Amino acid sequence: LAKGRQGGEDSAVTVAIRVRPLNSREQKMKAKTVVSVSGQETTVHPPHSQQKFSFSFDFSFWSCDAQDGCYASQETVYESLARPLLDKVFQGYNACLFAYGQTGSGKSYTMMGYNEDAGIIPRFCEEIFLKAAEVKEDNVTCHIEMSYFEVYNEKLHDLLTSDKEKNKTKKTALRIREHPELGPYVAGLSAYVAGSFADVQAWLELGNKQRATAATGMNDKSSRSHSVFAMVATQTKRETSDGESLTHTMRSHVNLVDLAGSERSSSAQTSGMRLKEGASINRSLMTLGKVISALSEATQSKKKPFIPYRDSLLTWLLKESLGGNSKTAMLATVSPAAVNLEETLSTLRYAKQAR
Ligand code: ADP
Repeated sequence: LAKGRQGGEDSAVTVAIRVRPLNSREQKMKAKTVVSVSGQETTVHPPHSQQKFSFSFDFSFWSCDAQDGCYASQETVYESLARPLLDKVFQGYNACLFAYGQTGSGKSYTMMGYNEDAGIIPRFCEEIFLKAAEVKEDNVTCHIEMSYFEVYNEKLHDLLTSDKEKNKTKKTALRIREHPELGPYVAGLSAYVAGSFADVQAWLELGNKQRATAATGMNDKSSRSHSVFAMVATQTKRETSDGESLTHTMRSHVNLVDLAGSERSSSAQTSGMRLKEGASINRSLMTLGKVISALSEATQSKKKPFIPYRDSLLTWLLKESLGGNSKTAMLATVSPAAVNLEETLSTLRYAKQAR
C-alpha cells in the first residue's frame, strides 16, 4: 500500500486570517473597529494610540463589504484555502485544516457555516464526491470513510455513535493506540463509508447535534473542545499491462478541525475543573502551534527539526496526517471590535508563529 507522496515542493503550511463583521449587538453599541486588512496584511490599531501592529499572512480575509476589495465570502475562503488541499488529496497527500481563534470570532461559521451559507466542511465534502466521479473516468475508484469526534480535556469522544451505542460508551473516553506502521489511531472510533454527499450531510447533522447536546449539559463545552471531522480517501487504480492486471492504491487522510476557543490560553484561570480544562486547552493549542511552526521550518530549511507531537493528544493523533507528506492550512479568526483587541493580537501572534 503506497502511503502517498513524500515531501512537498512548496511550503507545507498556509496561514490565513479572517476578520468577522461587527455583530448587531456591537453595531448597536457603536463598537469601534480596530482591525483593518490590506492585501495579505492584517493590522491592529489600538485606540488612542499612534502605534499599530501589522502582520503578513498568505491571506487576510475581511468579512463584510465595508472595506473595499477585501471582502471574502464563504466561497472565497473555501477556494483559497481548502480547494488546494482537496487537489492535494487526489495527488495522494494528507491534508489538515485548523480553525483557531477566540470564542465568537467565527471558527464554526467558517468550518460549518449555515445551509445557504455553507462553510469549508460541507463544501469540501461536496467536492470530494465530484472529484471522485471525475477520477472514475480514469479507472480510479475512490472510497471515502468518515469519522467525527471531539477532544475535551485530553479525552476523546465519538460524535457519531448511535443512541444504542451511546448508552454504552457515553462515559468511556476512547483511547489512542499506536500501530507500528500506520501510526496513532483511535481504538473503537466509528468510521462510516460515505457513498454520496447526502450520506455525509446526514452524519454531519448527527455529529453536530451530539456536539450541541453535550455543550448544553456542560455550560458550552463546545467552545472548550476541539472537534475533528476526519476522512480517509482511498484511491485504487486498476491497469492492465501485458495482459496482467495491476492495482495501485493511495490513501490520504483529511482532518478538518474546529479548535477550542483560544481565549483561555491567555486569560486568568479560575479553579478546579476550569483550571484543569484551561490547562489542557492551553497545552494542546501551544503544542499545535509548535508542531505547525516546526513543520513549516522543516520545509523551508530542509533540516529535520524535533517535532513535539507527543505533547498533546490532538497532535499525537494527527501525527501521520501532519508529517512529511501532508499539506496544512491554519485559519485564524478574529473579531474587529476594540473590546477584543488583546485576544485579537494574541491570535495574530499565534498565527504568525505558525508561519
Ligand atoms: P466561534 O465558533 O469562533 O465561537 P461562531 O462561528 O459561532 O464563532 O461565530 C459567532 C457569530 O458570528 C455567529 O453568529 C456567526 O454566524 C457570526 N459570524 C462569524 N463569522 C462571520 C462571518 N465571517 N460573516 C458573517 N457572520 C459571521
